[in-house]
Amino acid sequence: MKKVRFAAYNTFYPDSGGVDKRKIVRLADWNENRGYNLYYTNELKNLTGGVAAFERALNTWRCATNINFVVIDTTPPSYLLPFRCRIHYGALPAGVPTSTKATTTPTFDACANGPNAVFLGYMENFDMVFKSSGINWHTATSMPTLNWNTELDFESFALHELGHAGLLRHTNNGDDLMYYRVEEYKRELEANDLEGGIYEKDLGISNDPNNCTTPMSPYLCTNSTDEGDQGWKFIKVVPNPISEQFYIEFECESNRDFQITILAIDGQMVLQNQIVRCRDVIDFKNFEPGVYIVKILTNAGIVHYGKIIKG
Ligand SMILES: [Zn+2]
Repeated sequence: MKKVRFAAYNTFYPDSGGVDKRKIVRLADWNENRGYNLYYTNELKNLTGGVAAFERALNTWRCATNINFVVIDTTPPSYLLPFRCRIHYGALPAGVPTSTKATTTPTFDACANGPNAVFLGYMENFDMVFKSSGINWHTATSMPTLNWNTELDFESFALHELGHAGLLRHTNNGDDLMYYRVEEYKRELEANDLEGGIYEKDLGISNDPNNCTTPMSPYLCTNSTDEGDQGWKFIKVVPNPISEQFYIEFECESNRDFQITILAIDGQMVLQNQIVRCRDVIDFKNFEPGVYIVKILTNAGIVHYGKIIKG
């Protein structure tokens, strides 16, 4: 059997003459961040570890592919609901098989039509539901039991569902995350999944030939996915892009003196300072817009790296 590397969403849609046309669906800019806003329901927040497990999966996808999914952790007012993506823990939509553990339902809108036009569809939002009844979800970072009948790994399922949210469909290759069944613990993307995710991101950030929606902007992940081999650690920076100041956070055993160095993209040092806490606010208003690298050196000789963008 031929193995597919990845499968993109493509639906058929009747034109005004009733003829099915291919409807290309893509990601676009549906929020104020040039991407999509996600929110958690209270039911999900009440599942111990559920949000954290979801966010680990979210970071795996968006740091690897730059798909612009951002969490706005408040329940949106009703007029914003079409522009927000719900992450829910509860009953699955009616009609899905009882063996299904989670679903992701995108909503599309089409904005181009014409005699020979290909319909262009845009994802407006998606609705993701993790089944609450009868499942023992494992949400911790620790390895779940290998008995998939008694315990399911939430992060693995979230990772698979986020692939659907990024407009990937199932493949027939059992090694892939996007295989039609989530059969085992899998918290990483395979090369095929990554290729598919990057394809969808690239389509989403490309110019819209019909000018009916603005393209998505790539999400820039500040948590480097490359840990290197020198004990490099991550730095969390918010907001990013930054305007006047930013909040910085990194892993440290205790608060003490750290050296922070900020380099311009050409390697020139623009700031060097001592900070005393591993959570701090850095003033950055006097610097030119651009990309900068942040390095933190701890007393233990550990270097943490991050990237910031001054808007
Ligand atoms: Zn699936």
